[in-house]
Amino acid sequence: MGGQHGTAPQDFVEMNETLTDTAPTAAGETATSEGVFTIAPQVRQAMIEHALAEVPDEACGLLAGGDGRAERFFAMENADHSPMTFRLDPNEQLKVFNQIDDLGLDLVGIFHSHTHTEAYPSATDRRLAFYPEARYVLVSVDGSEPVLRAFTIRDGEVKEQEVRFE
Ligand SMILES: [Zn+2]
Repeated sequence: MGGQHGTAPQDFVEMNETLTDTAPTAAGETATSEGVFTIAPQVRQAMIEHALAEVPDEACGLLAGGDGRAERFFAMENADHSPMTFRLDPNEQLKVFNQIDDLGLDLVGIFHSHTHTEAYPSATDRRLAFYPEARYVLVSVDGSEPVLRAFTIRDGEVKEQEVRFE
């Protein structure tokens, strides 16, 4: 309790294993849920509010839920405090992973904002995308109406997801 509990790379491995374990198995379900990401309306609102609050810096956080649906948003600190990049703080990340576990939920998404560019994964975002099963949610708050888009990033390949708010 309270001590050092592994390094960030190990945490990544643990979470990847969790994601693999919870991959959908029911035949027929997989094909329909693939490509669609459902976000609870209050989660969408919380992400946009967090993004706006952190301007000009990028905001970040994690999404928890299950079955291609985000039910909870964990707003997190951008350890880079930068308008160009974001980085999750390893200690905060571990705490959030534990909370997600305690809730019986899975990590389903990784959120960050762009404050100067469109809501599309940058070259850096693609290079640092370690979660093939997660949805990468981007919110652009570059001055006009916030734009939210979601993607999978697998081996650097970006695939846009249909987003539903319900
Ligand atoms: Zn980015």
